[in-house]
Amino acid sequence: MLDTKTIGWLAGLLEGEGCFFLAPKTISPVITLSMTDKDVVQRVADLWDRPVWTHRSDKYYPGAKMIYRTELYGLHAAGWLMTIFSFLGERRQQKVKSILAAWRSREGNPRVIFDGKCLRHPDAELFQIPSSTTTYCRGCRQDSANKSYHKRTGSSRYYQKSIL
Ligand SMILES: [Zn+2]
Repeated sequence: MLDTKTIGWLAGLLEGEGCFFLAPKTISPVITLSMTDKDVVQRVADLWDRPVWTHRSDKYYPGAKMIYRTELYGLHAAGWLMTIFSFLGERRQQKVKSILAAWRSREGNPRVIFDGKCLRHPDAELFQIPSSTTTYCRGCRQDSANKSYHKRTGSSRYYQKSIL
């Protein structure tokens, strides 16, 4: 049963031990928890209805403890991030905000800006047009020029002329 106490407990645990990030290829939120305390990880996995994976790191550190890990992706991860949001500290809240903003903007949107770069074109330059507050990505602009050139001409050749 999900009550405020449980949500607060989970938020506190993830704040310290969890990892929140955006999977760059799928542009999907991910939450992971890795700990040596099996009962704690199992409790979270039960809440999330997810399995627990184990691995031992004694390949490098002889006698090392077993590590227990569970993780959540996509829509469910986004839902849990929203659920625990108000219990998180400022830094984590900022991270969650940018993860969710990028995730929400990905559908039909070529430009998904996260951590100061376009996730589809991490090497491309971002820029702003002076009259606009929108951030543009040169890679996305080139893609859309290629697409409309293809539509117009039926040619599968890339639109070579720079639009930028
Ligand atoms: Zn881009």
